[in-house]
Amino acid sequence: MYYVVDLVKKHNSWRRFEAINLIASENVMSPLAEAVYLSDMMHRYAEGKPGKRYYQGSIYVDEIEVLVHNLMSSLFRVEFVEPRVISGTIANAVTFSVLAVPGDKAAVTSIQAGAHISHTEKGVLGALGIKTVEMPFDLDTWNIDIDLARKIIEQENPRLVVLGASAYLFPHPTKAIAEIAHSVGATVIHDIAHVLGLIAGKKWSNPIHEGADIITASTHKTFPGPQGGVIMTDDEKLYKLVSNNVLKFVSNHHLHRLPALAITIVEMMYFGEEYAEQIVRNAKKFAESLAAEGFNVVAEHLGYTSSHIVLVDIHKHCSASKAAKLLEEANIIANKNLLPWDHLNPDNPSGLRFGVQEMTRFGMKEQDFEEIAKFIREILIDKKDPREVKPRVVELRKQYLSVHYGFKLSEEVYSDLLITLRM
Ligand SMILES: *Cc1c(COP(=O)(O)O)cnc(C)c1O
Repeated sequence: MYYVVDLVKKHNSWRRFEAINLIASENVMSPLAEAVYLSDMMHRYAEGKPGKRYYQGSIYVDEIEVLVHNLMSSLFRVEFVEPRVISGTIANAVTFSVLAVPGDKAAVTSIQAGAHISHTEKGVLGALGIKTVEMPFDLDTWNIDIDLARKIIEQENPRLVVLGASAYLFPHPTKAIAEIAHSVGATVIHDIAHVLGLIAGKKWSNPIHEGADIITASTHKTFPGPQGGVIMTDDEKLYKLVSNNVLKFVSNHHLHRLPALAITIVEMMYFGEEYAEQIVRNAKKFAESLAAEGFNVVAEHLGYTSSHIVLVDIHKHCSASKAAKLLEEANIIANKNLLPWDHLNPDNPSGLRFGVQEMTRFGMKEQDFEEIAKFIREILIDKKDPREVKPRVVELRKQYLSVHYGFKLSEEVYSDLLITLRM
């Protein structure tokens, strides 16, 4: 029993006190959101919709779920919100499944151009029997090639056009693609899993306001909420279709997410703009610093990035898997990633993907990212032993232990919450 407790303690202190996390899809909740996450709701079911449940016992859950709907709708200025999907992948599964049938086609970007596995035949689309056709990627604009996408869409007549990605430096051209898609009667799904927080902070525009029919997202990447998903739209028919079919993919919607999500939405209303602004500033500075240290940072001619992500082509120095392992030995956590030119050899990616959003949430600013770029150079270019660099990584991390851009948790509120659990 104490062994398990010990493993959790080790994980917590490694990831919360000693490691610099640059995984682009992760984040942390505020202390208040974390405190309400630990509630009895984690043990309950509430199948159905608020006020119309198949189970009794959800009086307070109903109130919170309606609150989440209203807060989300007001933060993102959309009419309809479906928060019961327990992850971004499930959000995509529900959405794709109600909008296409087996044998239909979906136009997607390629994995090498940053798409998520759920947008492929190896992922959700394939599981639903939906075929994919790829919209070509243009390295000059580091984005979907609109003219070639037009050709593909007009030729192939897809039912769905899927935008959004996991390695996403610049916003996809929603407006242009939506016009083309709508001209052949396709539905546009924009998957904003990675950039929900940047949209909440108004650094990126909401694709619904640019012509997308429906958006799917995760609530725990740049948006610093509990792990989960959400679907939003202004189209009542689409909303009803999605909402009536959630139960195909979700029975228990992990109710303890909902109060934590509500708190995070309010935090983003208060602090979201400042937070998103700092994320983008940090990412740009990090990219510039990595380039100055001698790394091949992609999209230099476009100013590297306008998101939370920085992509480095590392193959000249070592393989990306080796690079990610060496960084981990120095307590810098990142992942290998395919780049657009890796289509010939997808098993050996040449990219490293870095996201600045979590360290920004812990209060790091531009000068800290200059420092981190230096650590990375020492490990991957100077080939220093990572164990030699690690103490300085830990020292930098220890200066940033509290969560910014979120609500504090007073001792009083915390003990009140624990008392209701008899803890
Ligand atoms: C992360 C991600 C998802 C999946 O999100 P989960 O919440 O992990 O299921 C879906 N789409 C994109 C583009 C993503 O980056």
